[in-house]
Amino acid sequence: MDQPFLVPAGSRVSLADYDPDYTGSYVDKAAAKAELKRSSEKLQDLQEVMWAEGKHSLLIVLQAMDAGGKDGTIKHVMRGVNPQGCQVTSFKVPTREELDHDFLWRIHKAVPRRGYIGIFNRSHYEDVLVVRVENLAPEQVWQQRYEQINHFEKLLADTGTTILKFYLHISKEEQKDRFEARLRDPHKNWKFSMEDVEKRELWDSYMRAFEDALSRCSAPWAPWYVIPANHKWYRNLVISQIIVDTLTSLDMRYPPPLPNADQIAIP
Ligand code: ADP
Repeated sequence: MDQPFLVPAGSRVSLADYDPDYTGSYVDKAAAKAELKRSSEKLQDLQEVMWAEGKHSLLIVLQAMDAGGKDGTIKHVMRGVNPQGCQVTSFKVPTREELDHDFLWRIHKAVPRRGYIGIFNRSHYEDVLVVRVENLAPEQVWQQRYEQINHFEKLLADTGTTILKFYLHISKEEQKDRFEARLRDPHKNWKFSMEDVEKRELWDSYMRAFEDALSRCSAPWAPWYVIPANHKWYRNLVISQIIVDTLTSLDMRYPPPLPNADQIAIP
């Protein structure tokens, strides 16, 4: 991959520098889809070893503006993966009980156990995104959270959780097209909400909040990636390949065979 999707630790992200239309060397979706199929097969194999070995877990964090493609990413990138070893958690507006705890309480409970891939559809980053932009907590509260998030993610990484965080980067025009498609298509109507349109009016504030989260919370043990996401097929391919490369680097192994397996007779 020739576009630096990875946000280097300590760097300052300006989202204007990232082209949401970027598709690398791919000119259309046919070749990318064939490549995605190959990558998916590798992912299926890697997940099976991960499950069998039971040592590592993988946490995938997905964040985006509304209509950014979080749901589609889960559907397409995880296709074919054994559902038994996979768990998706969608974080909504916190409940009363959740609000009566620290902001990481509900998050920590959803972290995947060893052998599992966990996907966060929204995450603890909402607590420095929507909370910040919509003034749901005083600045003094959300300002502390970047550091708290970094400590939390370090704890997870130190105890066997590999973390990958993807910001799906779409343009404001692309969001408009996707909202309009939701309004026109009866099968997509259910996805439309006026609240999403209200958030769109705060687009620039959200971009600033994303830039701060990406800049302040990308660490070698919990990297952020800015994924060009106007083209769904390219988005899926890039994410799948990053997951495959990361799992491959864990060098996971099936547990050793029983020493006397060839002598066991099944009656
Ligand atoms: P989605 O848009 O992810 O498909 P919903 O339409 O149910 O799902 O939206 C979930 C909503 O919950 C979003 O508006 C999101 O900003 C909000 N949310 C998630 N986490 C928090 C949080 N910690 N504080 C406030 N709102 C949150």
